[in-house]
Amino acid sequence: MLDVSTQPKFLVDFMCGRLARWLRILGYDTEFFTQTGITSRNKILLKSLQEQRIILTRDTKLSKKKAYGLILITSDKIRQQVQQVVKELNLVLDKEKFFTICSLCNKEVVLIEDKNKIKGLVPPFVFETQEKFYTCPQCKRIYWQGTHFNLFLEDLKQFIEI
Ligand SMILES: [Zn+2]
Repeated sequence: MLDVSTQPKFLVDFMCGRLARWLRILGYDTEFFTQTGITSRNKILLKSLQEQRIILTRDTKLSKKKAYGLILITSDKIRQQVQQVVKELNLVLDKEKFFTICSLCNKEVVLIEDKNKIKGLVPPFVFETQEKFYTCPQCKRIYWQGTHFNLFLEDLKQFIEI
């Protein structure tokens, strides 16, 4: 049995790219495995073991192999994919963790201490109305909990209990 008492980490194969982005938005450390080809199955299994990441895949052949942890994703629809992962691992989603990881780079975002530093980099209305801004140390994208945050929560509530 997998020990998911600590925050699980994921390794998502190339067929589940949207799922990777969703899991990052939900606050989970999620690597996206994009390699294909003859040795890719062995490589993804090795990475999963080395980094103790749960593989999320739609590859039935891969799902028969021994891995640190693996979930065979059954649906091609993103909402059902998220539902399946949450259900199978009994994940307890934590709103505080939402949007704390860059959805593009899988890096933890950091608080910008002085918001004046990013004046001109976000729309003026956003700059005036938001207090806290975060940035991704890798791609430098700027994040804030604006209206998109509430829209995301509303959307999520349609299909997951939070
Ligand atoms: Zn980034």
